[in-house]
Amino acid sequence: MVKIGVLGLQGAVREHVKSIEAAGAEAVVVKKTEQLSDIDGLILPGGESTTMRRLIDKYEFMEPLRKFADSGKPMFGTCAGLILLAKNIVGYAEPHLGLMDITVERNSFGRQRESFEAELMISNIADDFIGVFIRAPHIVEVSEDVEILAKHNGRIVAARQNQYLGCSFHPELTDDHRITAYFVSMVEESKIKNLA
Ligand code: GLN
Repeated sequence: MVKIGVLGLQGAVREHVKSIEAAGAEAVVVKKTEQLSDIDGLILPGGESTTMRRLIDKYEFMEPLRKFADSGKPMFGTCAGLILLAKNIVGYAEPHLGLMDITVERNSFGRQRESFEAELMISNIADDFIGVFIRAPHIVEVSEDVEILAKHNGRIVAARQNQYLGCSFHPELTDDHRITAYFVSMVEESKIKNLA
């Protein structure tokens, strides 16, 4: 069984743990950098990216997270976590982790629609997934080797680039664990490759 960590500095941590377990993997809340060496994949949850970044700096997670990424182990960013993964953020000079070749825009669905649900078609995963969007970002632009997995009203809301998976919405806030299960299978495949 693979072991998947959820970065536990801030945000929707517990719900991801439940979803990982429901998808048949072991879950652990990562609060210390040492724990990163013990997991096969990592979820960066939703919450508030600026707060999360502050805590990443405060608890000296930046270098360990970059090393984790360098090791090739899969990472999944949801909502604020997607913003942490992006190489470009509209209106910001610097990214946070800057790992995935995408440009994101924060809070991009407008004030009136701070939170909403929408049925999504997600390539290879589900054609009827209810996405819960909470002050969500969207993906403005992707590089050539990024696979677009879902759009909502013409805006990209889920994508994958090699070992990186990201979505604008909160897949852990419904009882539908198909996206988490997809990430679990990415982690399983990467573990088998690393053992070979
Ligand atoms: N608006 C938040 C941000 O910019 C993301 C919201 C979320 O994760 N639900 O970080």
